Amino acid sequence: MEEKIKEAARILSGAKNIVGFTGAGTSAESGIPPFRGEGGIWNKYDPNALNIEYYYRHTQDSWNIIREVFYNYFDNKQVKPNPGHDILAKWEKEGRLSCVITQNIDDLHTVAGNNTVYEFHGNMSRFVCTKCGSKFPAREIQMTEKPPRCERCGGLLKPDFIFFGEGIPEEAYYGSVNAAEKCDAFIIIGTSGQVSPANMIPGIAKRNGAKIIEINLEPSTYTNYITDIYLQGKSGEILPKIDALIERH
Ligand code: NAD
Repeated sequence: MEEKIKEAARILSGAKNIVGFTGAGTSAESGIPPFRGEGGIWNKYDPNALNIEYYYRHTQDSWNIIREVFYNYFDNKQVKPNPGHDILAKWEKEGRLSCVITQNIDDLHTVAGNNTVYEFHGNMSRFVCTKCGSKFPAREIQMTEKPPRCERCGGLLKPDFIFFGEGIPEEAYYGSVNAAEKCDAFIIIGTSGQVSPANMIPGIAKRNGAKIIEINLEPSTYTNYITDIYLQGKSGEILPKIDALIERH
């Protein structure tokens, strides 16, 4: 393992353009549970709450769950970025990482200090009006029992993350594809690779010649196919170890 970490650091030291690709595992050490599997949120709640058609037709039912899961539970935990997020922000500031492509909706990369973050599935820290498209910071929304309404046009608001049945935000999609085509090192962190179409982004980087480094507690759908260096373990522990070995002149 030490050798593999050294090899990853060597590749990243020489890379001109690194892209990070993150999933739920990246935020696990910040205390955010996965949605599926053991301890997953959808074992307790009906995932239909996040189906866009259901939200329009059964708004009150949906809102009860969304409010409880995303705006009481997560907020009460006062989640903060962990050392893994911090290293990705540090690398962007140093000019070695061009962007983070994230499937997470928790805003933690931005809070950690990354500026270019392609939010493939949107972001729960904003709300968007389903009628006029206006966006509002979640902290300005009254989280009452009644589903929130737009202060401009009265339309129904929804969290600005992707519900089942919605498309990927165009800017995030094309920004991610473009970044994956141009990078020379691509780090896959804490994602199982099961969610489409996000899961096709790493293959684009591979086909364009990037070295693929992967950090995960367990093998993913990428590990035996496109990963060049697989580092098994927690991202909040492995990223700082790699960082300590990066050559800085
Ligand atoms: P996933 O739940 O399918 O897979 C998580 C992966 O992270 C697993 O492979 C697991 O082995 C790995 N992992 C767990 N802890 C880790 C750690 N400390 N370090 C490194 N790896 C670790 O997640 P996914 O592939 O991102 O897909 C889930 C979907 O659900 C995404 O679309 C995402 O939008 C959403 N989601 C978001 C959040 C969030 O915003 N924090 C949380 C849960 C789910």
